[in-house]
Amino acid sequence: MQETGTISIHTENIFPIIKKFLYSDHEIFLRELVSNAVDATQKLKRLSSLGELNQELGDLTIDISFDKEKKTITVKDHGIGMTAEEIKKYINQIAFSGASEFVEKFKDKDDVKDIIGKFGLGFYSSFMVASQVEIISKSYQEGTEAAHWTCDGSTQFEISPGEREERGTTIILHIAEDSEEFLDEYRLKGILDKYCKFLPVPIRFGTEKDQVEDGKDEEGKPKFKTIEKDRIINDTDPLWTKSPSDLTDEDYLKFYRELYPMSEEPLFWIHLNVDYPFNLTGILYFPKVKNDFEVQQNKIQLYSRQVFITDEVKDVVPEFLMLLHGVIDSPDIPLNVSRSYLQSDSNVKKINAHITKKVADKLNELFKNERASYEEKWDNIGVFVKYGMISETKFNDKAKEFALLKNSEAKYFTLDEYNEAVKENQTDKDEQVIYLYTTDAGKQDTYIQNARRKGFDVLLMDGVLDQHFVNHLEQQLEKVHLKRVDADTIDKLVDKDEKVESLISDEEKEKVKTIFEEAVANPAMTLKVESLAADDLPVTITQSEFMRRMKDMARTGGGMAMMGNMPDQLDLTINGNHPLIGKILKARKQEKKKQLAKQAYDLAMLSQNMLSGKDLTAFIQRSVELAAEQ
Ligand code: ADP
Repeated sequence: MQETGTISIHTENIFPIIKKFLYSDHEIFLRELVSNAVDATQKLKRLSSLGELNQELGDLTIDISFDKEKKTITVKDHGIGMTAEEIKKYINQIAFSGASEFVEKFKDKDDVKDIIGKFGLGFYSSFMVASQVEIISKSYQEGTEAAHWTCDGSTQFEISPGEREERGTTIILHIAEDSEEFLDEYRLKGILDKYCKFLPVPIRFGTEKDQVEDGKDEEGKPKFKTIEKDRIINDTDPLWTKSPSDLTDEDYLKFYRELYPMSEEPLFWIHLNVDYPFNLTGILYFPKVKNDFEVQQNKIQLYSRQVFITDEVKDVVPEFLMLLHGVIDSPDIPLNVSRSYLQSDSNVKKINAHITKKVADKLNELFKNERASYEEKWDNIGVFVKYGMISETKFNDKAKEFALLKNSEAKYFTLDEYNEAVKENQTDKDEQVIYLYTTDAGKQDTYIQNARRKGFDVLLMDGVLDQHFVNHLEQQLEKVHLKRVDADTIDKLVDKDEKVESLISDEEKEKVKTIFEEAVANPAMTLKVESLAADDLPVTITQSEFMRRMKDMARTGGGMAMMGNMPDQLDLTINGNHPLIGKILKARKQEKKKQLAKQAYDLAMLSQNMLSGKDLTAFIQRSVELAAEQ
């Protein structure tokens, strides 16, 4: 007996609306159908384990196939199945009304695409690609008949007794003309690999060829033959569902390679396993990041009960951990709600806090137990830690213990150790401990060597985040100031108020200044003559820490953009006590004074990497002349 009916929903034909909304994410129809098949199978297994199933479970493999000629895609399961009444109830009412409610609710919202793309519309999403859908199902309940339902996505449907002997459900999609791209093995395999790779029930998609042993040849060597075997596309027990105590390092590395075949090996990993107050499992890997935030292609994947949902984990994982790789699986992350809701969701917040804490604990453990190997990894993990310290107060509180500072000699210190190491020699007259740093050890070498000669230590701050980290440290540490090695002349960097006696008179100082003003002729330079140690450089170019930081901030977009356009204002300090200055004063010819002053100035420019073009050529010529002089 055939029955036709009308599905009672408010929106007449919601199909075109949904099709439009979901344009870019049509492929999720397959995820939805396979997830339903998995759910139906899991329900059956549960009934069986409760002793409520009076039959064998049998083979529960879910079959996915397609027929290019008939233009169909079929998903077949051996789950609990549905009676005709259940189809009417679950499909006609639930699936359809669910879909119409969904459209009603979200059709005026801007982020609708975002939302649907991430969770799909269940069964109804088949109409995104099919012009007609058939369900042939037989319930596990004894004495029930198979049912056959057909619908074209409108509110009309037909239902009649079906022909199916075995328990379970077959869904046949008659693919619409504009969706024939899905009648393709590679396309389907690609979709299955993306969404279904770790589903908990075996999924078969076609066959593959395999070599098996087939007797021996005359020499007794094994012979092989090629057979076709089922192609099971998923791993039903992925690593994150297992207990960490059963796993070896090699297991974790193998799983990493499976997830990200093209990547370098990770540094270490964290196995997450929480069941209260929310459910969360997963494995997070720390990749080698080095200094540049290259475009991160290997993103963290988010699953819900082993179904892939998305790799946009922005709201679930704290931002500084987005550089990690791996998998998070949680049925408690609400995916069917808007982004703004997700950000304020208390489960998501707790998950966020939990992951942050776990990561901090793991780092602390590595630091405490394996300091040497932790130091080796620091250049790679420092970026995470610094990013985390700057952006998350809770993480910062923990990371203070295991964050490292690296100096120009490639030695590592914790924050406390460093303070202890430099405080004696680098405390200035105002009781401030001055940390000196370099942002480029190559270019600032003259300044670094100068500082080291004085017994000062120099930190290496040449990472992408270090400009911010310097500010962060200064806010965090009491009585500590950070200055770049070229922020001042060496006696002023760590100003201990030690007066060096001047070897020249005030009058001579004025003379020197005038000679240099003429020789330098650069309005960006503020000249002054000071009495430094005789073995300090004759002329030094510096830029005040404050000015430089303001300009750096402006350059990277942090406030006061106009600062970025201002010319660099530099200080030129002439060391009145240096023998070269004495020589300039004593030189008889005006020409000679100017030549020597220019030479000293160019040397200072050179040590700041500021000498180029015509000035460099002139410097070389002058150097040759001076060297050839008697
Ligand atoms: P959801 O899965 O979110 O409940 P769907 O629209 O995908 O929504 O499905 C509606 C209902 O139809 C399901 O809850 C389930 O009861 C039933 N159903 C769908 N597919 C199957 C299947 N393969 N076997 C048994 N029941 C199914």
